[in-house]
Amino acid sequence: MTDDFSGGRILVTGAASGIGAATATLLAKRGAKKLILADRDEEALSDFAFSLPCERALLIGDVADEALWNDADLTGLTHALVNAGTAAGKPIEALEFEEWRRVMSTNLDGAFLSLRAAMRAMKSGGGSIVLTASVAGVKAEPGTAAYGASKAAVIHLARIAAKEGAPDGIRVNAIAPGGVETPIWSRVPFFADMVMDMGSEAAAFEAMAKIATPMGRYAKPEEIAEQIAFLLSDRAAYMTGTCLVTDGGYSL
Ligand code: NAD
Repeated sequence: MTDDFSGGRILVTGAASGIGAATATLLAKRGAKKLILADRDEEALSDFAFSLPCERALLIGDVADEALWNDADLTGLTHALVNAGTAAGKPIEALEFEEWRRVMSTNLDGAFLSLRAAMRAMKSGGGSIVLTASVAGVKAEPGTAAYGASKAAVIHLARIAAKEGAPDGIRVNAIAPGGVETPIWSRVPFFADMVMDMGSEAAAFEAMAKIATPMGRYAKPEEIAEQIAFLLSDRAAYMTGTCLVTDGGYSL
């Protein structure tokens, strides 16, 4: 059993920032030599990829655009982190359909298309896939209708994919982080208000974590990357279809 990724060809979506970037960095430290990094933010992705000490191919575009995946060369893919995501934070009665569709497009359509491309590429050789869901897909909270529903669907998608992929040696798991200190929160209106009130993102993160998280803090992206690397690796060889909740006790 190993967490050495040196023999792998590994896809990471949403790789330019936050959890995706932290995971790509960790996998490179654990020996990964061939990374395929996908993101729609071309500048951030190019800057980040430049910092990695390994071979990397860039897939630039919207993960919810089927053409991106039709044109992608995923030959020999062994591992995939399906992670690109976006947030929203409004009660149902205030949520515009356009906002609902924006979230569903990236979080669910994008997850489906990325997952399908990875499973097709792994069909003959097997592999391991992790989908980044969220504790918002496990625990119902007001104001998370679009985000939470999309992530609950991602958790179930992982279960179905696990059953379909098992005969081909493909493992599929989900991870459900609680709050993680990344730029995704800038999309959430109440967080932006808290940053204004409290003067900094760090103060807003601390205040939110103190309210709801038994551990009293949000996760660093590097902590979530450790859990993802575990699920991707052979150390999790008998795990498939699970959802690993890693939330500092938030959902208890
Ligand atoms: P982030 O904003 O730091 O990174 C997300 C990346 O995805 C960005 O680089 C962005 O450009 C890219 N992206 C977004 N939409 C895309 C699209 N349609 N096509 C291609 N690229 C796209 O956020 P993060 O916190 O690292 O989020 C990563 C994943 O973790 C998301 O799925 C998110 O829902 C999930 N998550 C985050 C938290 C948290 O508190 N930060 C908690 C639970 C789950």
